[in-house]
Amino acid sequence: MSDTPILIVGSMAFDDLELPSITARDVIGGSATYSAFAASTFTEVRLVAVVGDDFPEAPLAAMRARGVNTEGIERAPGKTFRWAGRYDRDLIHRTTLATDLNVFASFSPKIPPSYRETPIVLLGNIHPALQLDVLEQVDRPELVVADTMNFWIQGEPKALEKLLKKVDVLIINDEEAREISGIHNIRKAAADVKKRGPKAVIIKRGEHGALLFDEMGMFFAPGFPLEEVVDPTGAGDSFAGGLVGHVAKELEATDRIGPATLRHAMLFGTATASYCVEAVGTERVASIVERDVETRMNEIRSLFHLP
Ligand code: AMP
Repeated sequence: MSDTPILIVGSMAFDDLELPSITARDVIGGSATYSAFAASTFTEVRLVAVVGDDFPEAPLAAMRARGVNTEGIERAPGKTFRWAGRYDRDLIHRTTLATDLNVFASFSPKIPPSYRETPIVLLGNIHPALQLDVLEQVDRPELVVADTMNFWIQGEPKALEKLLKKVDVLIINDEEAREISGIHNIRKAAADVKKRGPKAVIIKRGEHGALLFDEMGMFFAPGFPLEEVVDPTGAGDSFAGGLVGHVAKELEATDRIGPATLRHAMLFGTATASYCVEAVGTERVASIVERDVETRMNEIRSLFHLP
């Protein structure tokens, strides 16, 4: 475990999931929830989010038990954010059936003074104006990583453009890269997105892995081939959480974040996400320990072994 903290902001949610094998309602989810469970495998997490008065205590207690600081979670009167999605049989493509912002509609993040000096910030998927709001309240971090999705790319393009100027690493999927840039070719789309601000762009391609584009060039992290994927929800957020978790450890050990750090961190993100999808909701990602990630890292390394 490292002592270098990470500030994570994002959604905390009830998810209604239609998976090929089962339908599950009221599953605890949200971008911040998945990322916080994932990153807390490696280091201290400081969480900023809002929940409604209907959100149970148990997941918050489970987070605290993993070293997540929940002081920045606001409990507001009203209903918690809710998202509903249906997955295709391939478990890659999904359709959003509903996004109910609820308490997020009037949320304005307040960063506790004890969070202000946090070297790594992960802006999980929420309204880009809220992501910007958080950045304005912290001292300049060493690394700002942000995630977003089609809902905000289409609905809040201006706020997103502003945000991109303040981000070091942007994590999006291939469809989102195409939407932001209007370019189909993924390499050209990444170059276009990079011109809008981020020093590095990571493009996730579902089970096919993720590509990093930065000043050193390109890097590829494969998706780990699992025998059974149960629920891909939160894979992207767990990838981001695992990635920043490893960056925190490297920053503590070497006092710097370089292109090599990001490349290694992508594989740690992959390893972390591969656990998330093995169970419904946060069930698996909420219980992984560093030894689990090491085991999967060895399996990932063996994918590249040339006898
Ligand atoms: P992922 O599968 O990594 O893309 O993340 C899925 C999580 O994102 C779910 O638990 C949802 O609650 C959350 N989510 C879905 N849409 C939004 C949105 N528009 N804003 C914030 N969080 C969202």
